[in-house]
Amino acid sequence: MKIRVQKFGGTSVATPELRARVVHHIRKALAEDYQVVVVVSAMGRKGEPYATDTLLGLSEAYSQSLGSREKDLLMSCGEIISATTLSSILSHHEIKNTVLTGGQAGIITNNQHANAQIITINPKRVQTELEHGRVVIVTGFQGQTTDGEVTTLGRGGSDTSATALGVALNADCVDIFTDVEGIMTADPRIVEDAAPLATVTYTEMCNLAFQGAKVIHPRAVEIAMQTNVPIRVRSTLSDDLGTLVTNLGETDRLAGEVKDLPIIGITQMPNVTQIKIPVRQGHFDSQLLVFKAMAEHGISVDFINVNPSEIAYTVNDHAAEQAKQILLDLNLEPELLPNCAKVSTVGAGIAGVPGVMAKITEALTEEDIQILQSADSHTTIWVLVKGEDMIKAVRALHQKFDLHQLSYHI
Ligand code: ADP
Ligand code: ASP
Ligand code: MG
Repeated sequence: MKIRVQKFGGTSVATPELRARVVHHIRKALAEDYQVVVVVSAMGRKGEPYATDTLLGLSEAYSQSLGSREKDLLMSCGEIISATTLSSILSHHEIKNTVLTGGQAGIITNNQHANAQIITINPKRVQTELEHGRVVIVTGFQGQTTDGEVTTLGRGGSDTSATALGVALNADCVDIFTDVEGIMTADPRIVEDAAPLATVTYTEMCNLAFQGAKVIHPRAVEIAMQTNVPIRVRSTLSDDLGTLVTNLGETDRLAGEVKDLPIIGITQMPNVTQIKIPVRQGHFDSQLLVFKAMAEHGISVDFINVNPSEIAYTVNDHAAEQAKQILLDLNLEPELLPNCAKVSTVGAGIAGVPGVMAKITEALTEEDIQILQSADSHTTIWVLVKGEDMIKAVRALHQKFDLHQLSYHI
């Protein structure tokens, strides 16, 4: 039998009405003769009773004293509440089911608490339950070390549980049900006329996700890409199929009529600090000193521009003070600009298409937005702007590339 993995995000399981929609989608897949694995997130968002952030809030006053192992145990409760609640509803509707924790579902991780990486999946128990005709509900976001310790996979990690199970079970598709119609040309909370895309490639999706589109966790896409399991990002509220994320379409799209519209989305990442360090003539070793020191202190650097007279890069705002102190201790003279934002223009069709950067600068100049730094790859052009300009920049770029009327919308 064919296997379908269906993942329901926090907002999709938050109310009885939404949980009725979840039952509808499970029923539909069963009626189409699929064996169904359901992955659930903790119910609701920050402030709601059983959301992950709310659980974390319980120990907020003592968070420094809570061990990383215990914190993972606390965070894993939300998904257990969600999964068992869904189990009772399915049983009420006479749909045979069972609940498995991440560990019971065979998701084995390393011991990096709060951001554990999946090492392997042993799907035997899930397969046995499916063969007994049960819907298998797996608590998302969780794994287990080889020593039996509960781990979590990083915020937003239920997507990763779903695609990893999809790969291990050789599912024909992983459906990520959420509160938007699909992958959109920008975050609909920022751009009112953002439009859902019919297809995006794994590469484009990874770029969108790594650059801030939180609709799906980037690691979930990387895992699916390894064996080409298709992902559909779709709305819990409708039967529309949403956005298909696959390799298919990449070549068609690049060869086709959309060459003059190579961009498929704009994303943003706030809260970064730009660091610029002047290099004194002949002091080439400064480059090595700077990046070695950042690495030794575990500070992740991004947006790196090195030239003979200057070193420029960004760090997260929360690491900025530490980075500054390290550079001062090296007798360097860093200039810091906190609260910047990285705005990314993404599309697999960017490579070799003239005029993309010209359009980006035009859009930003028209809005009086200064580009502090820029960089590009064959699928993305990044610009660094002041944080206060971020939303204006995203909207201006979306408009300039006419993304609301892109020809491959759903
Ligand atoms: P879930 O709880 O279902 O995992 P998330 O909140 O993690 O949902 O992801 C869905 C949200 O992602 C949407 O509500 C939307 O605001 C946001 N989002 C950001 N960028 C995009 C984008 N490019 N396309 C669609 N949604 C996006
Ligand atoms: N509940 C977890 C979180 O809020 C995992 C998820 O939603 O994917 O990060
Ligand atoms: Mg999510």
